[in-house]
Amino acid sequence: MQCTRCNRKLKDKKSIELGFGPVCYKKHLKALADEEFERNQVTIDEVIEGVSV
Ligand SMILES: [Zn+2]
Repeated sequence: MQCTRCNRKLKDKKSIELGFGPVCYKKHLKALADEEFERNQVTIDEVIEGVSV
């Protein structure tokens, strides 16, 4: 089993379950959070645009 992000070999059971090493899992979560944030921002922008037009 390898890390989905950096392809390093995973050695502990938890990492293998997650599919990420501990550091990459944090980065993965952060990327997901950023993605969510950006998606929300786009939604807000669209709402504002819709109101002002
Ligand atoms: Zn990794």
